[in-house]
Amino acid sequence: MSKYCFGVDLGGTTVKIGLFTPEGEVVEKWEIPTRTQENGSKILPDIADAILAKMQERGIAREAVIGVGIGVPGPVDDAGVIYRAVNLGWGVFNINETLGGLLGIDVKAGNDANVAALGEMWCGGGKGYKDIVLATLGTGIGGGIITNGKIVTGSKGAGGEIGHIHLVDDEPDACGCGNHGCFEQYGSATGIVRLAKRRLAASEEDSVLRTAQAEGTLSAKAVFDAVKGGDKIACEIAEEFGSYLGKGFAAIAAVVNPEVFVLGGGVSKAGEILFGYIAKNYEKYAFHACRNAVFKLATLGNDAGIYGAAKLVLG
Ligand SMILES: [Zn+2]
Repeated sequence: MSKYCFGVDLGGTTVKIGLFTPEGEVVEKWEIPTRTQENGSKILPDIADAILAKMQERGIAREAVIGVGIGVPGPVDDAGVIYRAVNLGWGVFNINETLGGLLGIDVKAGNDANVAALGEMWCGGGKGYKDIVLATLGTGIGGGIITNGKIVTGSKGAGGEIGHIHLVDDEPDACGCGNHGCFEQYGSATGIVRLAKRRLAASEEDSVLRTAQAEGTLSAKAVFDAVKGGDKIACEIAEEFGSYLGKGFAAIAAVVNPEVFVLGGGVSKAGEILFGYIAKNYEKYAFHACRNAVFKLATLGNDAGIYGAAKLVLG
């Protein structure tokens, strides 16, 4: 009998579901809407219905399903207890027990960013490594830490929240978390735009980024395109940005000593140029025994969550 597992990535608007073989082949993937009304009480029943319908359609027996893994947008501990997910209207309850009860199949839940890191280790940019840090540089910095093949969950599921490492004391703007001076205020796509605006306001020097700012197209991509064109101000902004990323990653490395940092999200599209600025600064700030960590691109994109969720149940 062929064996299967399901990987579920629960987002605020859609639920991605993948049917996998234990070897990491995607047999099929599809999406259903996330119905957040009535405090999100329909979400898990909808997911259970979708999975049971797929098993019936394909003639897959319960005994053939190793388990269902699910990544959710909130802190989840190792027992599957979620400590609130504001976007979904969820309070505190045990996802493993609730969804497992609806399915009659073993369920393992994890935080979505941590689960994505597991996916990148299994089949993506971190393949072949067991100690990885995933950093998704987008609106914020999403992160997940894998040590010896296992997610670092922490006591309340907030392990791997690398975006909120405190880096700067005198930051006037508040981070989304309410604190001031968090890593993601500098090292994300939003962060580099903030750095760019501050740098442009600090002098009157010429830069192609002034045109971009006037046209409302100042973005992480605009900065790195200008770096490629040799724009002096853009190079200074990239240097500052790389310095924050180097400091943040060096702080993480001193705790978990990863083999590889896997970078995803919009900013990572800047590619080799970005890696150069980060690696140079990382080597400057990292403890000597951590310096040989390498930087690689995430390769699974939006599918990292379903891969990692499937891997959760495979162990
Ligand atoms: Zn924060």
